[in-house]
Amino acid sequence: MAILAASAYAANLAYTRALDQTIANGAETLNLVRTGLEGHLARYENLPELIADQDIVKQVLSEPVSPMTESLANLYLEDAAALLGVMDAYVIRPDGETIAASNHDTQMSFVGRNFRYRPYFQDALAGAPGRFFGIGTTSNKRGYYFSAPVRVGGNILGVVALKIDMDALEASWGSGISEIMVVDPEGAVFMAGRPEWRVRSFVPPGPDAMARTAETRRYADAPLEAIGFGFQTDENGHEVARIGSGADARSYVVLSQDMPDAGWTVKVLADRTVAQDQALAVGVAALLLLALIAALGGILYLRKVRGLERLRLQREAQEQLERRVAERTTELGLANTLLEREVIERRATEHTLRQTQSDLVEAGKLAALGQMSAALSHEFNQPLAAASAYAENALVLIERGRIAEGRANVERIADLMDRLSSISRHLRTFARRPDDMLQEVRLTQVVEDAMTIIGRRVTTADASMDIRIDPAADAVMAVGVRLQQVLVNLISNAADAVEDTPDRRITVTSQPSADGTVELSVEDTGPGVPEAILPRIFDPFFTTKGVGKGLGLGLSISYNIVRDMGGTLHCERGAAGGARFTLSLQTPGFGTDGS
Ligand code: ADP
Repeated sequence: MAILAASAYAANLAYTRALDQTIANGAETLNLVRTGLEGHLARYENLPELIADQDIVKQVLSEPVSPMTESLANLYLEDAAALLGVMDAYVIRPDGETIAASNHDTQMSFVGRNFRYRPYFQDALAGAPGRFFGIGTTSNKRGYYFSAPVRVGGNILGVVALKIDMDALEASWGSGISEIMVVDPEGAVFMAGRPEWRVRSFVPPGPDAMARTAETRRYADAPLEAIGFGFQTDENGHEVARIGSGADARSYVVLSQDMPDAGWTVKVLADRTVAQDQALAVGVAALLLLALIAALGGILYLRKVRGLERLRLQREAQEQLERRVAERTTELGLANTLLEREVIERRATEHTLRQTQSDLVEAGKLAALGQMSAALSHEFNQPLAAASAYAENALVLIERGRIAEGRANVERIADLMDRLSSISRHLRTFARRPDDMLQEVRLTQVVEDAMTIIGRRVTTADASMDIRIDPAADAVMAVGVRLQQVLVNLISNAADAVEDTPDRRITVTSQPSADGTVELSVEDTGPGVPEAILPRIFDPFFTTKGVGKGLGLGLSISYNIVRDMGGTLHCERGAAGGARFTLSLQTPGFGTDGS
């Protein structure tokens, strides 16, 4: 709507400008036409007076007139007309009859014609110079008439009249863009640039006008047909005219100027179609330009809107990201704090644990020491008390002379002392000997040495020995003597176990283990270790054997020896139902020694 309004405004402005220009041009043309007409008429205005002053003119109007005088007057007028460039020059008697004329020798000769009805004749006869425009009743040609009275003394003898041709002037009007016409007071077109408008009337002549025209015979017998268009006043106060129809229709602004001397009005019709066309062109151009600008503006606006939208989305995404990062950072911070706290707690716990562990170890050591002391004092006190009792008894018996009985008591004391020394001997082996270096030893050799010590016991038990040492599992890292001691212990226990069973077999085997060590097993066909006491058999002084038979130190010492050599000792149920003790021993090339 705004674009339409602006275009209309621009068109209107352009139209106003163009119209102003058209009007200005029209006004200029009008001025030129008026000046031209005035100049043209002015040239002839005073000529009738001059001619009226000629003797020959006065003579021809004086009575009586000779044919000679008439001829001379005719010749004079003919010469004068040719000389002055007027169409006709003639002399009229007071009764209106023409007595001499420049066209006397033509078919259209005015001589003998009566012009008393013409106003210029009447005016001149009345003593004033006459002017008139009209169509010649004789020649049927348009012309402008000037007249003057012919005076002799105080009397007016007649009238001299000149008819001027306006055709040449009028012919020059047809070439311009503006239409030019001369209109008489009755609304009839006397002269016009366009031939078809000449001697036509805008207003159908009313009875009065008809009467006036008929009286002066201004238009001779011309019918004064309607010109076909009229003048209107438009909204701007301009007098306008529309001429033609359809595609040829043109619109004019009418500029008028009265020429009172000449008795007519000059009209210039300035073509305003050009202005209209220009306005239309400007309007359309403005419309296109504004539409283009609006379209460009729209595109730019849309782009900007889209750009802003994109920026907004990006900002939102960024903000969301930052928010998430901040959230995650807070979470991580929290987790970190928790973790730190946990680490501190763990450290504290670990510390407490270590403390507790070392406390426990200390406590364990003390407990072991206590246990050991208690066991030792028990083991020593009993034989010592018994020995003391036997000694007292022996003394009493000897005093009473019962020597044999006293001797038996002393023998018992000796037995008890043996037992005590045996205990102390075993206890010696508890002492650690970390300086004993591990060496590569052959199991075949160790087992053989052990058999020389324990062989008799095995034979006593009537057990059969089965020794199978895998050559691939022969070499181990150990302290030979101590390993031998362990084997002696284990085989001795096995011999004890099989003693009362019908099937008495002891098997010693070695085999490589999956973890690179060698497993040495001592298995028997005895009753095996009951499940209930299995956890306790490696405890010192634990024994199921009768008094005087077992000390309960063998397995305990063996366990410690094996552990000192970097190996393990454990007990399980054998395939035949007996006990199976397995030593796991390091091999050369495994562990510290790379060769
Ligand atoms: P001791 O032989 O003096 O009793 P040990 O420490 O050698 O002391 O053995 C502890 C106990 O383990 C034995 O009393 C016995 O009950 C059990 N034991 C050891 N070897 C065997 C075995 N081969 N078969 C069954 N029980 C065994």
